[in-house]
Amino acid sequence: SAYYYGITYDPVADVRGGDTSSTSERENAALVALVRNSELKDMQASMIQLENRWNHKYNYPYVFFNDEPFSDEFRRGVQSITKSNITFVTLTHEYWSLPEDIDLVRFMVNLQKNRRRYIYGGKLSYRLMCRFESMLFYKHPALASYKYYWRIEPDVDYYCNINYDPFRYMRTNGLVYGFTIAFSEIKSTIETLWETTKQWIEQNPQYIPEENAADWILDDDGNYNLCHFWSNFEIVDMDFYRSQAYESYVKHLDDAGGYFYERWGDAPIHSIAASILLPKSKIFWFEDIGYRHSNTYVCPSNFEMSYNCFCKKAHSYHRSSCHRKWSDAKGLSRSQFFEKISI
Ligand code: GDP
Ligand code: MN
Repeated sequence: SAYYYGITYDPVADVRGGDTSSTSERENAALVALVRNSELKDMQASMIQLENRWNHKYNYPYVFFNDEPFSDEFRRGVQSITKSNITFVTLTHEYWSLPEDIDLVRFMVNLQKNRRRYIYGGKLSYRLMCRFESMLFYKHPALASYKYYWRIEPDVDYYCNINYDPFRYMRTNGLVYGFTIAFSEIKSTIETLWETTKQWIEQNPQYIPEENAADWILDDDGNYNLCHFWSNFEIVDMDFYRSQAYESYVKHLDDAGGYFYERWGDAPIHSIAASILLPKSKIFWFEDIGYRHSNTYVCPSNFEMSYNCFCKKAHSYHRSSCHRKWSDAKGLSRSQFFEKISI
């Protein structure tokens, strides 16, 4: 047996289907998705894999959000996949509407302009989704009692058996943000996100810690290099999102209107926040959790991790340049950070 992420790992027991981890206790955590009724089949497909690979041993509860009431068909369909408790939430206006201070003319002109410039460029619903995932979901009463969440989506694949509890791993190691894919954002969706972020840093320097992980998201000139953690998979201690610093940051972004005038995504926002507000040691790459979303996937090449996985192309270990940047990045002291971004 080998020592694996702090857990004694027994390959033979695993081949027999044995559970190498304790299942008697759960962390204070939930599996969370925002999803539409029309995505039932794709949601079931994601859940079947997550259950088979992992959650049947833990029975972590699910919380599903929707801007419309969930149909009986959806409720029964997803419940048929799991023994776990599922909470179904219909979002009210405060979670899913255009804020009152958005200039409608400016919004509509930009929507039209961006319709063909980038994917979802003409969609209001996508922007409401990004705003909800950036600054609202963790405040919803349905999640109030939970500390950790794992975001899941319809039509993704989980390729590997997970023989330990990632939530427990987060807690026992004091981790705050866990990811599996790092990727580059489409620049035209976030044209003013970095300058708006810098305004906030200038106005709130007290929130910048003694050391942060911003090195991997900055180019040589101290500008945002577009790298981000792909938030369709993330395991997060929501106390971070509920912190004064994060709340202050996303309020500043919301006041600037960029969710709507541009198309700021929750992924770069979560990632910039985590990288400037946390030391690198609190952010963790779950390299062992092979995962696909749309046509991008990661699948571990390391033997100890890989024989536990079934990947369509086992040879193809996707490492975007952002993954490499993450691996190579150094922690930045406060003064190094301010100097690098010229503040
Ligand atoms: P992408 O991953 O950026 O291509 O965007 P998705 O279309 O996958 O949307 C991200 C998540 O939000 C998915 O889980 C979707 O099911 C969900 N989602 C997106 N738009 C809406 C919406 O208008 N209503 C609901 N209920 N869910 C949505
Ligand atoms: Mn998606």
